[in-house]
Amino acid sequence: TSAFQSIDLVPPDIQFDITRRFLADSNNDKINLGQGAYRDENGQPWVLPSVKMAKAELGEFGHEYLPILGLKSFRDEATRLLYKGTRAFTENRIASCQSISGTGALILAALSLKRLHSAPDSIYITSPTWVNHQMMFSTIGYQVKELPYYKDGAFDFDAFTAALGQAKPGSTVVLHTCAHNPTGCDPSKIQWKAIGSIMKERGLFPIFDSAYLGFNSGSFHDDAWPIRYFLDELNVELAVCLSMAKNMGLYGDRVGLVSFATLSQDTAQIAESVMQNVQRSTITTPPAYGARLASIVLSTPAIREQWQKDLLTMSGRIKSMRKRLYDELILLETPGDWSCIITQSGMFAFLGISKTQIHHLEKKHHVFMVETSRMSVAGLNENNVQRFAKALDETVR
Ligand code: PLP
Repeated sequence: TSAFQSIDLVPPDIQFDITRRFLADSNNDKINLGQGAYRDENGQPWVLPSVKMAKAELGEFGHEYLPILGLKSFRDEATRLLYKGTRAFTENRIASCQSISGTGALILAALSLKRLHSAPDSIYITSPTWVNHQMMFSTIGYQVKELPYYKDGAFDFDAFTAALGQAKPGSTVVLHTCAHNPTGCDPSKIQWKAIGSIMKERGLFPIFDSAYLGFNSGSFHDDAWPIRYFLDELNVELAVCLSMAKNMGLYGDRVGLVSFATLSQDTAQIAESVMQNVQRSTITTPPAYGARLASIVLSTPAIREQWQKDLLTMSGRIKSMRKRLYDELILLETPGDWSCIITQSGMFAFLGISKTQIHHLEKKHHVFMVETSRMSVAGLNENNVQRFAKALDETVR
């Protein structure tokens, strides 16, 4: 008998399966609003001009291992990008380790916290959240608890803060720094301040999941404001899990960084040594290619300037598509309130339509999106926005 006989088949990942179905569909007018990846005005993947410039600069590096903590120049540049101007940065109280994009950053941070933190057993995530949060943290042995986050097209501040006020002291809370996935709804600055006060009062440890910095406003710096606020105004310790997948378009190259901002230089050193040890025992060393490109982008003034333009191009196109879609729906007098499409921000809009309607969109109109009604606005362009609006209109009538 097989050692595996009692194991059931695990269904395919919901999100990746949408892409598979999209690729298998032979209809010429199909629209993919499923995958959270930027597409240009022709619906194509976009290699950022800044990344093309970095590739031209790259030269020959061979294929040796990186150090366990990753490429030093990338770690330094990414740390400066996130923290420059904060007291933690000036006082050298930041530990960093290169990770396998944002997913690997979250795993590395959560595994390291188990050893660094005195009360590490519970982790709070928002409800809803990115589908992987629940899976990844429970896989590594955390008790995962949910904080209500969303109601009627907006962030549910009252429910969220009420639940946060009941969270077990010492627990970890995963916060989306900006462009909340899947809802596209972020706290305002005033709301962030209230969230920060509650967390400080209850001794809750923040992990800032930062997969979309630059996608809200077009400015990485502006989108990272909550992190600087927590550090400088609240003077708390925190972790940042940074992904360069979306904001540099380096998806498959898996470029990310975990950083811990601590209260002392000594603690930062300890945190870095723990991360180094966790990294060694899980992946040994991170991949080199993407980190080299990101490091060149960040450290070369002319390329960095181009990157800042690229962020504006991506965030600006998404914003204009939100407006185009909204205007089309108004023109069609589509039943319902669609203002959430323009009030939400980042890569996603959360339409609030039913699973049956999502299935109908796919079967009848060849429009692919996640069953929760999250749509990747980046999948829209001038060639398909009208068609999608008409499909949505027909579906909800
Ligand atoms: N966190 C959130 C909220 C995300 O939406 C994603 C990607 O979709 C990630 C983290 C990690 O992505 P990656 O591992 O591709 O960097």
